Amino acid sequence: MVCGDEKPMVLDPWGSEEIKDYKKLFSEFGLKEFPEKWKRELRHYLFERGIAIAHRDFDKIMERIRNKEEFIVMTGIASSGRLHLGHKMVVDLVLALKKLNGKIFFCIADIDAYTTREKIRTMKEAKEFAVENAANALALGLRKKDIYVQSRKEARYYEFAFEIAKKFTFAELKAIYGELSPGKLAANFLQYADILHAQLPEYCGKMPSVTPVALEQDPHMRAVRDVARKLAYDFCLPSSIYIVHQSGLREGEKMSSSKPETAIFLTDSPEEARKKVFRAFTGGGGTVEEHRRFGGKPEICKVYEIFKYHYPNTKFVKEIYELCRKGELICGDCKKMCAEFLAKFLEKHRKKFEKNLKKAERIVHGEA
Ligand code: SF4
Repeated sequence: MVCGDEKPMVLDPWGSEEIKDYKKLFSEFGLKEFPEKWKRELRHYLFERGIAIAHRDFDKIMERIRNKEEFIVMTGIASSGRLHLGHKMVVDLVLALKKLNGKIFFCIADIDAYTTREKIRTMKEAKEFAVENAANALALGLRKKDIYVQSRKEARYYEFAFEIAKKFTFAELKAIYGELSPGKLAANFLQYADILHAQLPEYCGKMPSVTPVALEQDPHMRAVRDVARKLAYDFCLPSSIYIVHQSGLREGEKMSSSKPETAIFLTDSPEEARKKVFRAFTGGGGTVEEHRRFGGKPEICKVYEIFKYHYPNTKFVKEIYELCRKGELICGDCKKMCAEFLAKFLEKHRKKFEKNLKKAERIVHGEA
C-alpha cells in the first residue's frame, strides 16, 4: 500500500543502484524475511551465513526438501563477461539445492547478454563468453545436463516464449519496469520462459520451482508469476529466494565483470588474485598499532567477505571474525591467508576449467 504522495518503488533489474531500505521493499513487494529456522535446517554454510535474506513462497520448497521430493531449481547468468567469485557463489548455492533433490536448469543467457548489454556488440561475442561461462560452471561441479544456452534451446521453448508474450500489455510491463527498450522486452519474454518452461509437460510437468535472485531482479519474478496465472497450463507459481551478492573489492562497489579491479575472476592466476587481495578495501585500523588496540571491522572488510562467501569451514570463518574484532589478527597476515586459500582454489579450478572447455564448446555450439 502506498500512502500520500509517496511514489511506488520501481526496481531496475539492469541498474547498479544500491538498495538501502530492505524492510520497505519487503513489505511493498510481499517478500518475507528468510527464517533463522530454515537457515539451520538447510545445513549449508551459504544459508547459515545469511546470504539468503528473503523469500517468496519458499515454504513449498521447504516442504519438498523435508519430504525428500524433487523440485525445480532455475537460475542463470547473462554471458556478458568472465565469471568471478560472485558467480561462483550462485553456482555453489545451486549445487547445495541440487543435493537437496533440486532438478537443475542453469541457463547461460547469451541472447539476453546480447540484447540487454551495451558492451556486447555481437552474438558471436556473447557466445564466446558463454563458452567461458559454461566451462567455469562445469569446473565448479555442474553437469552438462544441468546447463543450457538460450540460443541452442529447443523450438518448444521459443514457442512457449511467444505464448507468454501474447499475455502481456505494454501498460502492465510499464507498471512493473518503468521504461523498457525493445531488446529488454524481448529478453524478458525469454527470461519468463526460462523460469516456467521446466513445468511444461515436455519437461518436468507441474512441480514447485525456486529461482535464487538478487533483490533488484524481483520485477522479473512478479511478472513471471502474473503470467503463470494467465497461461492455459497448470503451473505451480514459481518461488524465489533473494540473495545478497558478494560486493566488489573496492569500497561501495559491486563485483563486476566490467571492472576487473573489483572482481577476482575464476580464471585469474594466483598471482593476479594475490595482488587484488592485497589492494582490497579492509576494515582494518589506520595503523597496526590502532588495529591491535581498537580491533578491526570485519563487517565492512572485503577480505573477510571472501572468507564468508567461500571458505567452507564455518568455525574458521568465525575465528577470523573474532580475532579481527579483538585486534589479534592483523590485515597483512589475514590477507596472506586469504591469498593462499584463493591460490589453492584457483590452481585446481584452472585445471578443471581447461579440461571442460571442449564440453563447454559443445554446450554452446552443438556437437561437431
Ligand atoms: Fe579484514 Fe582481516 Fe583486516 Fe579484519 S584483519 S579488517 S578481516 S583484513
